[in-house]
Amino acid sequence: MQENGVIVIGGGPAGMMAAARAAALGVQVCLLEKNDCLGKKMLITGGGRCNLTNDTDIQTVIANIPGNGKFVYSALHRFTPQDLRHFLLKLGVPTKVEDQGRVFPVSDRAGQVVQALEQYLRQQGVTVRYKSQVDGLLVKDRRCLGVQAGSHTFRAGAVVLATGGMSYPHTGSTGEGYAMARRWGHNITELFPAAVAVTCNDAWITERQVQGVSLSGVKIVLYNSGGKVMAAEQGDVIFTHWGLSGPAALRLGRAVALAQQRQPGVMLKGEMDILPDQSPDLLAKRLLQRVQEGDRRSLKNLLADWLPERLARVLVKLADISPDATWGQVDKGACQRLLALVKKLPLQITGTRPLAEATVTGGGINIKEIDPRTMGSRLIKGLFLAGEVLDVDAHTGGYNMQVAFSTGYVAGESAAACCKETLDERNTFM
Ligand SMILES: Cc1cc2nc3c(=O)[nH]c(=O)nc-3n(C[C@H](O)[C@H](O)[C@H](O)COP(=O)(O)OP(=O)(O)OC[C@H]3O[C@@H](n4cnc5c(N)ncnc54)[C@H](O)[C@@H]3O)c2cc1C
Repeated sequence: MQENGVIVIGGGPAGMMAAARAAALGVQVCLLEKNDCLGKKMLITGGGRCNLTNDTDIQTVIANIPGNGKFVYSALHRFTPQDLRHFLLKLGVPTKVEDQGRVFPVSDRAGQVVQALEQYLRQQGVTVRYKSQVDGLLVKDRRCLGVQAGSHTFRAGAVVLATGGMSYPHTGSTGEGYAMARRWGHNITELFPAAVAVTCNDAWITERQVQGVSLSGVKIVLYNSGGKVMAAEQGDVIFTHWGLSGPAALRLGRAVALAQQRQPGVMLKGEMDILPDQSPDLLAKRLLQRVQEGDRRSLKNLLADWLPERLARVLVKLADISPDATWGQVDKGACQRLLALVKKLPLQITGTRPLAEATVTGGGINIKEIDPRTMGSRLIKGLFLAGEVLDVDAHTGGYNMQVAFSTGYVAGESAAACCKETLDERNTFM
């Protein structure tokens, strides 16, 4: 049996930050990670560049956390995006801001961030035990006394559970933390894929006619089966052979997944405005202007001045216009059908990609059972929770990582305080 101050389960951003903060407060910390390295998921974030936070104010961060954003209000104030950037700078990782406030390391290397955190943990004297899969929490009289990992028992003054969600399971996030918490009375709200690509069954999509075509700033409205608007998003998308991906589609995916959770198998209607900055009249005027100036190209090729040629070809076909027809060769009705498709391209949305492929896991340990000021369990003393294992999920843009770092920071700080309290109690009785 090993005696420790704070035990942290999981070496993702939440766990690493919890361990770093507890150690900085002078407590002995042991981090148990089942992989043979830290931050395996972090290494693939932001396409390997690690979009680690967003350079914005707390209100905007919360507005980008549709899954219980208010719960992390206190943690975000305690450790802000600016604090994170400052902290990383001190570790030798300068950061830069890109479009929409997304923050990346200047090096564009997620590996640099993980290495810097790992080195900091070492400097702070944190013991990192790799290939250490935790099987359960040791709890007695509603107090967490340590953890069990295989044949090893680790006793501790406080434990931080930071095992992540269930997406991309090959990175180590396989959901064991939920079972550990449930075993001692915590409720797990239903898990669902959040920040996830949507699937469509429109033939022109599944037949790969637009696979790989990307669009910027499109607007997509999602309707339920009763025709009521459920969600609307604007941003970039990319067509795949099964549907839509890209930031705007991922944001929409959350609403689709929740609709599917309420009514499995439900089909939803989507409408895409491919050129939201242009009214149909304006677009018609511009097309006509080209024709009046002597442009004799087909309608499809004219449209391709505003949108990708492969998509223009699909729209012309959907409008029942012959592929090479010119403006003068089609009637007014056909032109109107084509312009209507540009502004309201119908999409048959069948669902989302599975949880394993989602960027984030929605649902998790019920936040009502956790004190947002300390990240401490309200059910088990000495147990603290951080990161994606919680029922908190954010949009893409660096917000999920910020949630992990902020909740990790608070959990580490609280675990250190709890641990000192426990030691004081023990010393008083000795
Ligand atoms: C492809 C992809 C790209 C992403 N890009 C971004 C991005 O650019 N920006 C952003 O903000 N977010 C991004 N995310 C989301 C972000 O990576 C997560 O929200 C974040 O990593 C959650 O941190 P965490 O520490 O809570 O969990 P994780 O990073 O999942 O870490 C949990 C750790 O716990 C370990 N573990 C689990 N169970 C046990 C156990 N029983 N015993 C011991 N160890 C255990 C795991 O091995 C893992 O290392 C992305 C996610 C994916 C999948």
